[in-house]
Amino acid sequence: MICDLHSHTSFSDGVLTPRELIDRAIEKDVDMLAITDHDTVDAFNEIQLTQDEINQDGLTLIPGIELSTQWGSVGIHVLGLNVDLGSESIHTAARIQSETRLERAKRISSNLEKKGIENAFDGASRLSAGTYIGRPQFAQHLINIGKVETMHDAFKKYMGDGKAGDVKNHWAELPQIIQWIRDANGIAVLAHPLKYKLTRTRLKRLLDSFIDAGGQGMEVVSGQQTPQQTSAMAQLCEQKNLLASCGSDFHMPGKPWAELGRFPLLPKSVTPAWERF
Ligand code: AMP
Ligand code: MN
Ligand code: MN
Ligand code: MN
Repeated sequence: MICDLHSHTSFSDGVLTPRELIDRAIEKDVDMLAITDHDTVDAFNEIQLTQDEINQDGLTLIPGIELSTQWGSVGIHVLGLNVDLGSESIHTAARIQSETRLERAKRISSNLEKKGIENAFDGASRLSAGTYIGRPQFAQHLINIGKVETMHDAFKKYMGDGKAGDVKNHWAELPQIIQWIRDANGIAVLAHPLKYKLTRTRLKRLLDSFIDAGGQGMEVVSGQQTPQQTSAMAQLCEQKNLLASCGSDFHMPGKPWAELGRFPLLPKSVTPAWERF
């Protein structure tokens, strides 16, 4: 069974519409797909198909979200998997996080203004499908106005860690994020633990804070990774008694290392999060 529990649509920084993403997942033989847009569940309003219609093509769609928060000065992401879209809590989370995104976008824009880039807010806003606005939109705007040539350069020079467009320590706190997910009957999963570039000791500390705050799972597999990375993450997952998740973190076609459903299998030793759906 291929379960891809991490993906993005055009309602955050993904390229495909929800329908196109679902079609691609079916094409790639994915059995279970979670859409986990950054800080929004808007994609699910857009999907006109019923779960039964999607099931007919062999796919189970799982409602999800990827919430941004911070642990000390480290920006981290928490997935809410199998959240109840009818719950008040998930909409409260999306509303408050969106307000934070909007405020942050204004601060990013004024930081860029100091670097001689005017009106980045308007430029970036025009590139958003829904209400979502994030660093990738600013990066794309910088490409569009010829400041940089690639997304990579945009992050390296303007939007990445420590650069003008990196505005930190602004999101709802970790316990609040986890509470919102749990109040929506979802499973709170620490996203892509290897991306934070923490030493193993600090990663264990992060997991302890995450568990103290009510976190239930971690991504043992996130996109392409080495067998060594997978077994290290699986070992941590077991040690900390967490549920295991896996996903591509798909954003767009044309990136073979982040394709829907294409990542190593979860080791047999861990308990998959979908057993609790
Ligand atoms: P935000 O949530 O607004 O802070 O934007 C973070 C998003 O930007 C991530 O989810 C990635 O999709 C994207 N991103 C982060 N770093 C890079 C990078 N170096 N190059 C391209 N995209 C990136
Ligand atoms: Mn993203
Ligand atoms: Mn993420
Ligand atoms: Mn993601």
